[in-house]
Amino acid sequence: MKLPIYMDNHATTKLDPRVLEAMLPYFTETFGNAASRNHVFGWQAEEAVAAARQQVAGLIAASPREIVFTSGATESDNLAIKGVAEASAERGDHIVTCATEHKAVLDCGKRLEKRGCRVSYLPVQPDGLVRPEAVRRALTAKTVLVSIMYANNEIGTLQPISEIGRITREHKIPFHVDAAQAVGKIPVDVDGDGIDLMSFTAHKMYGPKGVGALYVRRRGERARLSAQMDGGGHERGLRPGTLNVPGIVGFGKACALCAEEMEADAKRLAALRGRLMGSIMQALDGVSLNGSLERRLANNLNLSFAGVDGESLLLGLDDIAVSSGSACTTDTPEPSHVLRALGIKSELAHASIRFGLGRFNTTEEVDYVSAKVVDVVNRLRKFASP
Ligand SMILES: *Cc1c(COP(=O)(O)O)cnc(C)c1O
Repeated sequence: MKLPIYMDNHATTKLDPRVLEAMLPYFTETFGNAASRNHVFGWQAEEAVAAARQQVAGLIAASPREIVFTSGATESDNLAIKGVAEASAERGDHIVTCATEHKAVLDCGKRLEKRGCRVSYLPVQPDGLVRPEAVRRALTAKTVLVSIMYANNEIGTLQPISEIGRITREHKIPFHVDAAQAVGKIPVDVDGDGIDLMSFTAHKMYGPKGVGALYVRRRGERARLSAQMDGGGHERGLRPGTLNVPGIVGFGKACALCAEEMEADAKRLAALRGRLMGSIMQALDGVSLNGSLERRLANNLNLSFAGVDGESLLLGLDDIAVSSGSACTTDTPEPSHVLRALGIKSELAHASIRFGLGRFNTTEEVDYVSAKVVDVVNRLRKFASP
């Protein structure tokens, strides 16, 4: 076993070696611009992009022409939310989202509020889930978009997406889903779930950083969307700019691997997660699980440790890469907005750890991590209350 141990797979994942292998030729021999129509270099690149588009679409039961390649989920969220708000300005100015969304969604909401939109940030129940009925009640005649994430990046909770999709379909309101943590981990079916727009990204599913996609429904009722950049008309005019061919090829390969392996991966990770949680909770009192256990990604564990200082806890776990319940976007760490939305007090939120298991974690690593956590928490508590 090698130290440090990486257990922060919600932040990013290691590139699968099989993905790298698929990408390599597109940095060297096959370097063409997919938009070059006059020679074989361009044709080869275009062919590779078309094959990848098929692989990406296949994973979410979409058709290839519904995939718009972007630089990642942040860009896809921006394109979806601002793009719909702009295109529907005549019809309305109200957006419904949720308090526990990723900052990429929340900050788009803030920007649109500055431009005069109204945004409803729905609260969640103590288990982290938004009630579909709360979405229904929030809709007004002016609502132009509902944006609710599939799986939460901190607590792994799975929102009731298909129930919300039924409601938005009934009201003919476009439904955007940030599925960065869900695609490749659980089966996602854009039709079955009633999704009109969906953001996802390669680097959360063992693909490269800097490439992602926005699914844009083109069958039946389709969401109207304004491009947020101007340029060469690539990606049906929705996202101009020369395509990142090696990245897109890697994204496609990552999707194909997940399609084949996610069921087995999820089973293995659920067992590892159970082992991690079991051994920590058996050895320690005052440990609480954040978010629903039943409606949750198999690879996520988020625990709060009562009676320990959050910063000391993280410092103690010096050879383990995990995340804390603090957002260090500023000099003074803020408690995570997700944990706060669950009603968790600020101090306990700081003393929380997100464990993000992934394809490359082993049983041996899990046992090392649980023993280390138990040891560090015991020591901190002993010093705290002599
Ligand atoms: C990682 C993540 C993003 C941002 O994705 P990038 O590709 O890094 O821009 C957005 N939403 C969620 C839920 C995420 O987990």
